[in-house]
Amino acid sequence: MTNSPLNLEIVYQTRQMISPYCLRTNIVRSNRLSSVTGANILLKLECLQNIGSFKIRGAASKITSLTSAEKQNGVITASTGNHARAVSYVAKQNGIPVTICMSEDVPENKVEAIRALGAEVVIFGHSQDDAFRKVTELQEREGKILVHPFDDLHVISGQATIGLELIEDLPHLERVIVPLSGGGLISGIGFAMKTVNPSIEVLGVSMDSAPVMYHSLRAGRPIQMPEEDTLADSLRGGIGLDNRFTFQMVQNFVDDVILVTEKEIAAAMAYLFKEHRLVVEGAGAVGVAALLSQKILPKDKNTAVIISGNNIDIPFFLKAVQPYLNNMI
Ligand SMILES: *Cc1c(COP(=O)(O)O)cnc(C)c1O
Repeated sequence: MTNSPLNLEIVYQTRQMISPYCLRTNIVRSNRLSSVTGANILLKLECLQNIGSFKIRGAASKITSLTSAEKQNGVITASTGNHARAVSYVAKQNGIPVTICMSEDVPENKVEAIRALGAEVVIFGHSQDDAFRKVTELQEREGKILVHPFDDLHVISGQATIGLELIEDLPHLERVIVPLSGGGLISGIGFAMKTVNPSIEVLGVSMDSAPVMYHSLRAGRPIQMPEEDTLADSLRGGIGLDNRFTFQMVQNFVDDVILVTEKEIAAAMAYLFKEHRLVVEGAGAVGVAALLSQKILPKDKNTAVIISGNNIDIPFFLKAVQPYLNNMI
């Protein structure tokens, strides 16, 4: 393994720090998916994690690492979804002021949901990039601490605690399938699992509309792409042209990246709903999408799939899964 800025000792310390905020999530076997694929398929249910996604692990890891002076200045980030929820929740639990920057295009219900968690929402500009520019300004002007959604070693160490749980709960595991956007989740899991067992295969899955990490890997450097609409909205966004950690960690710890279509994502959401009675957002279902579409082939492997989150409007969810509920494979 090439030299990594993390080590397992740090991840174990992180686990202790974040345990007041996070659950050790359940793992269930997918009997149907196992018989369809010929592999042993186990689902790690981060969609049942505290406040609805694994992002709480990274947020808690970063926030609990701060000094008391830093905590007083407050934390800041730009996000409309799971990361904003997680940062707001942990900050609030600790009495730390929290500012979330969003663009004017973010729907009012999302803004309200974040306000309801106790965050101050600052609306600025017309894109996620604009919102991030505001973050930088407030960081410099008010000394607020950035909780980056993925490109931060504390955050990555938080996500890596999922890898520890998988190693302990499923010692026979041979492969792990992980939703991939900025790469904090897969960097952490890949690092922890390959450090313990280098033969574990780590596969990333992204949507086929604007998969920035996928194209960055092919280009050999971080690239930029315009965002596109997708059911997997939590996977939207870039990796940062000035990426510090995740691009290199994905190069080191990820064996392959697979892309899935919108239809495959919707079918996977319907599958999880019907077979497991789970409401999973698009980003959380991409691993199952890659298996159902046979883009990842069985090879008899003991396979864990990370089901990463459940943050989706119920009417929107029902509309997406409806066409697939009657004719499942
Ligand atoms: C953030 C997020 C991801 C992607 O995580 P990265 O660390 O950016 O790769 C996947 N699924 C859900 C539900 C998320 O919120």
